[in-house]
Amino acid sequence: MQLRILLNECCGHGTCVEIAPDVFALDAKNRAFVLDADADLPEKVMEAAESCPCSAIVVMNDDGEDIFP
Ligand code: SF4
Repeated sequence: MQLRILLNECCGHGTCVEIAPDVFALDAKNRAFVLDADADLPEKVMEAAESCPCSAIVVMNDDGEDIFP
């Protein structure tokens, strides 16, 4: 699983960090970045992506193909 944060979309809400704090963190400008996409269960990472209020998290499989959204 690979992740991409759409920084222009991220509104710094922090839901992703609350759901998967080992995977996501917020930088000094309150924008999310990826710590380690494999640091939690794929289901948890997917839950974080689905919960993002700004649709700023793109989930890809290991071949780099988008699987969410
Ligand atoms: S939940 Fe979405 S909008 Fe909020 S910090 Fe994470 S990526 Fe950004």
